[in-house]
Amino acid sequence: MADWIKFMGTAGARFVVSKQLRSSAGTWCNMQGQNILIDPGPGTLSRCFSVRPKLNPEHIDAIILTHRHLDHSTDINVMIEAMTRGTFEPRGALFVPSDAIEAGNEPVVFRHTRNSMERLELLQIGKEFTIGPVRFTTPVLHRHPVETYGLVFDLPEGRVSFITDTAYFPELIEHYRDSDILIINVVFYEIPAVRQIQHLDLSGAKKLVQGIRPRLMVMTHFGLNMLHHKPYLLAQQLAEETGIPVKAATDGMILVLDEILNG
Ligand SMILES: [Zn+2]
Ligand SMILES: [Zn+2]
Repeated sequence: MADWIKFMGTAGARFVVSKQLRSSAGTWCNMQGQNILIDPGPGTLSRCFSVRPKLNPEHIDAIILTHRHLDHSTDINVMIEAMTRGTFEPRGALFVPSDAIEAGNEPVVFRHTRNSMERLELLQIGKEFTIGPVRFTTPVLHRHPVETYGLVFDLPEGRVSFITDTAYFPELIEHYRDSDILIINVVFYEIPAVRQIQHLDLSGAKKLVQGIRPRLMVMTHFGLNMLHHKPYLLAQQLAEETGIPVKAATDGMILVLDEILNG
């Protein structure tokens, strides 16, 4: 089957997570035959077995953590244990920001799971990483309270980028240019100008879409206010305003890259 991305969960921010108004499980990508799990938040392991078809954590080849916040990292140790069959079969790769494992910084990846993988790499600005034939980069440090990166995958079908948690800043447009599919964590509906919240709201996301002009934009990682305004309606509105197709992710939604980019 062609490359695909499955949004196991689409919750962002703590109330949507703690009330589980949306699932907070991570995003599972199947790219070039590699199973790549991004940001295994709370409930990722159990979600693997409740989605249809089931996803087998023993088949994961790599886990990428964009930053250490709980809604992204809670299930990381249990997913590493599952990937390495209880840490007894060293395999797979882990990519994390350095502050996720620093001693003295309350590491979110425990030592016993850290040593069970074939490879552990620290995310760095502008560096290129590989997972089998898949290449990705982390072009810029995001503006967020902890060390946070977005991801750019260059695949045969096109460029797929994840703009994860960050405040808006204009340089993001240059760093994520030429994205064919742009997946953005739109946590807030509207951030009042006086509040220093390091997240994107709908107007920030709109500026990114207008600047980058992808072939498809996907919104995910919703906070409470986004849910109240109904993400699918906001997606329609954003598509009309920008002339670019926009989808609001739902729990379990799959994007088949070939269908979107070559269909
Ligand atoms: Zn988040
Ligand atoms: Zn965060």
